[in-house]
Amino acid sequence: MFDWLIVGAGFAGSVLAERLATERGDKVLVIDRRPHIGGNAYDRYDDAGILMHQYGPHIFHTNSRQIFEHLSQFTEWRPYEHKVLAEVDGVLVPIPINLDTVNTLYGLDLTSEELEAWFAERAEPVDEIRTSEDVVVSKVGRELYEKFFRGYTRKQWGVDPSELDKSVTARVPTRTNRDDRYFGDEFQVMPLHGYTRMFENMLNHPNIKVMLQTDFAEIRDEIAYDRLIFTGPIDEFFDFRFGKLPYRSLSFDHQTLDTEWHQPVAVVNYPQTQDYTRVTEYKHLTGQQSARTTLTYEYPADVGDPYYPIPRPENAELFKKYEALAKETPDVWFVGRLATYRYYNMDQVVGQALATFRRIEEAHPKTPAV
Ligand code: FAD
Ligand code: UDP
Repeated sequence: MFDWLIVGAGFAGSVLAERLATERGDKVLVIDRRPHIGGNAYDRYDDAGILMHQYGPHIFHTNSRQIFEHLSQFTEWRPYEHKVLAEVDGVLVPIPINLDTVNTLYGLDLTSEELEAWFAERAEPVDEIRTSEDVVVSKVGRELYEKFFRGYTRKQWGVDPSELDKSVTARVPTRTNRDDRYFGDEFQVMPLHGYTRMFENMLNHPNIKVMLQTDFAEIRDEIAYDRLIFTGPIDEFFDFRFGKLPYRSLSFDHQTLDTEWHQPVAVVNYPQTQDYTRVTEYKHLTGQQSARTTLTYEYPADVGDPYYPIPRPENAELFKKYEALAKETPDVWFVGRLATYRYYNMDQVVGQALATFRRIEEAHPKTPAV
């Protein structure tokens, strides 16, 4: 008899399993339909001995010391500041757009102040910034929007940026200085021995049992448990009662080359050409040395595993219906990117899981053993 059944061994499920087992002494069964733990953050050594990410590049970054310190119990870290280049008009330039991006692309020698004025001349006034197009054209104008954002976004999401919530392209800032880091967060690190090792450490507790290749549907009536934590797609949990929530998928093409390096930085984006959105070379992320190198090409797709909730008003409306149903479902907690239909980074999912743990503690205080 388990106190908890947790569906999903990704960040949401694993963080909660550890908290429940360590802090409350609860007995926890974690299941996942995949053959491994770690969810989308799963990494592994491939046939060439290179540590790669099965589901595309995962770079850890957060402004929360609490979240960073929480995970630090389960891993050491390697400092890593993520750099991305975009191939635009045949040239590799920094993205987020910065001073060097504009100077290189237009053969200019602007200063930061001059670049601010340059952007201001081109920016289009937008009354209310609602969409992913508004965010960019109101800052840098239409030409840069078209070069860097329109094609990439259409490829990635299958819809025009004008039909996506502003939060999507707002993830990528615009800079007038020469800062070429993809993220501005205070903590930017990679788990020293990989994500999977970190998850192993998190789940390594006598009160936690893990069952892989196990779908919730198969065992829901066969295993005795008191309460449930569900981190899979919320629409699936409710048998798609109100219709399917749209998710965007990806197909990953992993390639190992017999050369030491393929590209100058970890990720190169292709906003104007190719069917793939970006190419990742893992050794830049991990610091691993090898005469060979492993890459991943990401091809966006409509069908396949659900990777990205699609932030659009009508999808938010549909999610609200499922959320209302979730609130009426006793003893089930919905946590994570798929169960709460939020385009969350890893740190945000950890934060959400820790907040859920606090709510569980309030709802079900543990009577101290006498
Ligand atoms: P998941 O990791 O999806 O875990 C859910 C698990 O539940 C899965 O393993 C699934 O198999 C299992 N499951 C679902 N339904 C069932 C069922 N019915 N029965 C059994 N098991 C089930 N975040 C960052 O911070 N930095 C990045 O650089 C970054 N890059 C990303 C790149 C890509 C391509 C993608 C797709 C995401 C990226 N993310 C990144 C986001 C990150 O992957 C997520 O925030 C995080 O992994 C979500 O954790 P989760 O536990 O909510 O979900
Ligand atoms: N984006 C873009 N061009 C780029 C980089 C990003 O148009 O070169 C847009 C695109 O819509 C993308 C979003 O900004 O989906 C968020 O980018 P991010 O790199 O955060 O995507 P993720 O790593 O989550 O796939």
